[in-house]
Amino acid sequence: MQMQEYIKNKPLIIQRSEGKYLFDDKNHAIYDGVSSLLNASYGHNIEQIISSMKEQLDILDNNSLFLSTNEQSVLLAKKIIELTNGHFSNVFFTNSGSEATETALKIARKYTFRKKGIGNGKVIALRNSYHGSTMCATLLSGNEHDIQGISFDAGFIQVPFPEPLYYSSDEIEEKVDEHILELREMVIRNPDVSAIITEIVQLSNKASVVPSSFLEKIRSLCNEFEILWIVDEIATGFGRTGSYFAYQSLDVDPDILLLGKAISGGYVPLGAVCVIRPIYDAFIGKVQEGNELAHGFTTSGHPLACNASLACIRFLEENNLVENANEKGHILFESLNKLIQNYDFVLTISGKGLLLSIIFKPGIKVPMMREWGIAHLISKRLIHYGLLLYPDSDDSLIIAPPLTITDEDIHFITDTLSEVFSLFS
Ligand code: PLP
Repeated sequence: MQMQEYIKNKPLIIQRSEGKYLFDDKNHAIYDGVSSLLNASYGHNIEQIISSMKEQLDILDNNSLFLSTNEQSVLLAKKIIELTNGHFSNVFFTNSGSEATETALKIARKYTFRKKGIGNGKVIALRNSYHGSTMCATLLSGNEHDIQGISFDAGFIQVPFPEPLYYSSDEIEEKVDEHILELREMVIRNPDVSAIITEIVQLSNKASVVPSSFLEKIRSLCNEFEILWIVDEIATGFGRTGSYFAYQSLDVDPDILLLGKAISGGYVPLGAVCVIRPIYDAFIGKVQEGNELAHGFTTSGHPLACNASLACIRFLEENNLVENANEKGHILFESLNKLIQNYDFVLTISGKGLLLSIIFKPGIKVPMMREWGIAHLISKRLIHYGLLLYPDSDDSLIIAPPLTITDEDIHFITDTLSEVFSLFS
């Protein structure tokens, strides 16, 4: 949306928050149906998380990992490794998801240089992905509008994948094989490829679920050509899709895992890059001989952010929120599917767990529609009815409620959607 449109249409000003609710400047309660862009996965102002952070500020307010380490960052790294069942051996902390992407690109290229003597290795991403908004993350994602006027050859290639929206379940496996064959040929043509990066569910592409068999075949391809598989779980990590990490629902594991958003529940900024042991080992040796990953941010591993993250993970575990996301995700998916049968301007529901999208029929025209797409129009109307969802495009609305969602909340979401959809039929 244009900034001038935003201002003209009176931006939503959030004054305070409590649990699953946001309150605007008129004290109107709005259910945070998108967890503040998948950050506030555990809800807002959770007493036990905030008191833990306050205690931390009294103990150690700040520390730079360039100078020393701190207990909270060590504990958090260990905890994340434990949640991956020890698959990853080391964790690098960043301040955001985009910085995690940048860090992974640097690691992948430097690793390839050290292992194969190939510099500036190319990185392959899936079309319609979103890996962040820093320069390289933008070019890596490759969105046509986003790269306009800033593009240079950074060695990133975007490849299509079989999106479930466009194929029936009968067709998908055949398409997976076709796309993998093309990808394999591309890797053969480009022997300097250092990594393939994928999401598991693409938040910014209508919660499109990348087929499991496609991801499993990417793993085999990476093994065959000794290239790294990076999985971006900045949006899907920490229970969102019904397992701690979305890749854990597959039969294969990545080499690098990117985390952000729910890692610290939106309480403070934090991101992380997890790597497997051989990657870590590749940088060990005499510094004078270039054996180090010279990389970091002044606030990497900030004790307050790491403390917040540990408190969030404790809250997640104590309240069985991963199981809840799985169970309630199915119920919400079924309820939405039932609801949309009554509205012919809705095409389908996509996504997994508690990361879902309502997809409208392309080019649809409804009453009251002016310059905006239907998703923007409906999302604005929903706010009046007390529900915040995210229009990630003109024709799709993301639903990603807090993992604490109850059956009552699901009724509220579907009833509110039904009420608002009826205005447009
Ligand atoms: N990767 C994915 C999959 C994302 O969804 C996002 C943010 O939406 C990012 C990367 C970038 O994270 P951040 O906005 O924290 O820089």
